[in-house]
Amino acid sequence: MSGDAPNPAPARSAPEKGPVRVDFEFRRELARKVEGNLASFCYQCGACVGDCPAATYSDRFNPREIMLEVLYGLGDELIKEDSVLWLCTNCYNCHERCPQEVKPVEVIISLKNMLADRGILPEAAKRITHTFETTGRTTPGGPAVDKQRARFGLPPLAPVPVEEIQALLKPDAEVPEPPERPAPERAVRPAPARKDQKRFAFFPGCLIPARHPAMESAIRKTLTNLGIEIADLEGASCCPDPIYFKSKDKLDWLSVAARNLTLAEEQGLDIFTNCSGCTATLSETRHLLEDEELKGRVNGRLQRIGRHYDGTTRIKHVAVLLRDEIGYEAIRKSVKRPLTGLKVAIHYGCHLLKPSRIMQVDDPNNPEVLEKLVEALGATPVRHSNWYLCCGKACQDENVPMDMMHDLLGAVHKEEAELLCLICPTCFGQFDHGQAKVAKRFEEDFHTPAIYYLQLLAFAQGVPYDELGLERQRFKVECLKRFENEDDEAPAASRKQPSA
Ligand code: SF4
Ligand code: SF4
Repeated sequence: MSGDAPNPAPARSAPEKGPVRVDFEFRRELARKVEGNLASFCYQCGACVGDCPAATYSDRFNPREIMLEVLYGLGDELIKEDSVLWLCTNCYNCHERCPQEVKPVEVIISLKNMLADRGILPEAAKRITHTFETTGRTTPGGPAVDKQRARFGLPPLAPVPVEEIQALLKPDAEVPEPPERPAPERAVRPAPARKDQKRFAFFPGCLIPARHPAMESAIRKTLTNLGIEIADLEGASCCPDPIYFKSKDKLDWLSVAARNLTLAEEQGLDIFTNCSGCTATLSETRHLLEDEELKGRVNGRLQRIGRHYDGTTRIKHVAVLLRDEIGYEAIRKSVKRPLTGLKVAIHYGCHLLKPSRIMQVDDPNNPEVLEKLVEALGATPVRHSNWYLCCGKACQDENVPMDMMHDLLGAVHKEEAELLCLICPTCFGQFDHGQAKVAKRFEEDFHTPAIYYLQLLAFAQGVPYDELGLERQRFKVECLKRFENEDDEAPAASRKQPSA
């Protein structure tokens, strides 16, 4: 892991013998956090432990034990400098497995909110939340970013009205009574520009526009080719990020996310996202704000900036947009350069699929959407034995994410896949930059390039390799070059299309 990771938490020692003293104030404080009272339903079955990567890769972490410590009110075991809580990878497997809807991961996030209240956050979380609070983005722009964007024909990064974000983050006590304002006008859903087009608000997030403009360029080109009209969301901030900012204060996180949703509501549009983290934040916010009491609290904050959240906008990850609004057959027909014989390993990550009751994208235990999308390009998708592992980004430990990535890349290598296809820029960063660290640490170089699906689609649709921005990756996707000259000059009718 990066130098940002705190020192690993020491192995957990058994509590000293003697009567257990329940800290009721700790439990009351936790219960005041959003979803902080869920541990009360835990009956200690242990189902959350089996698929927990943090428990698998570390003997210091066990979600059932954490829930027990919450039930016993052992706040001192959890709310401390070297807390074990930051080993959680936010993968949501415990949420999926728990028969009692305890959502251990959400209880853990509420506990992290308590740590943050005491100023205890890993350095990475402190830095990223500060950047967000001062710029509205977790990955800010600047001249270098704008220069990179221009290379791909993209405009400079749009400014974020950071004063709106800061007003939302102020504690209620610091905000004077809002002035009476007329309710903002609600938009009527506008008709698409062309009859065969579908119009969606594009929520770009932070990482792709600032760090991976080549991915944004591929999204815009391929979706426009496929009949999607893209409406930019003026004033959108970071989603905000579901790892660090959510861990600092879940009500702040919900309020900022709700503000982003109001931008699309005002245009009368549904949103599509290009990052699994953004999808998770916006979808979970929509789900949680079905609770009228919580929605009222969030709308109280939004009132400070003259906004109101209604809950009318739906959120679609770009993979879902491709599947449901465009369809595999139309994608297949758009391919000019079939990737026949290319073995592509799939990485789902966690937030595209889970929590499945909120995301409702695919079967989290046997998904197929990414395989089908890869198949539509004429390539051969490969399911490797560690396909269900996440990238480990949220885990703040030296060893756990490295061990996870090592096992995942080892499984990909065993299947002789030529590249690893994913649909999230955070996962991409882990497997591109992180792979170099894995190679150094384990002295084992898998050399498996990662690629964002929309760039693979753009290549298959005929965008030249040199225009995909892949030369900026640590691991180049050289295997694509063998497809480049094959059919490029052939007339469209004579090109072989991937079979259905
Ligand atoms: S699966 Fe749910 S009920 Fe069972 S131990 Fe874990 S949190 Fe408790
Ligand atoms: S989110 Fe994942 S790592 Fe965290 S407790 Fe749940 S299963 Fe374990």
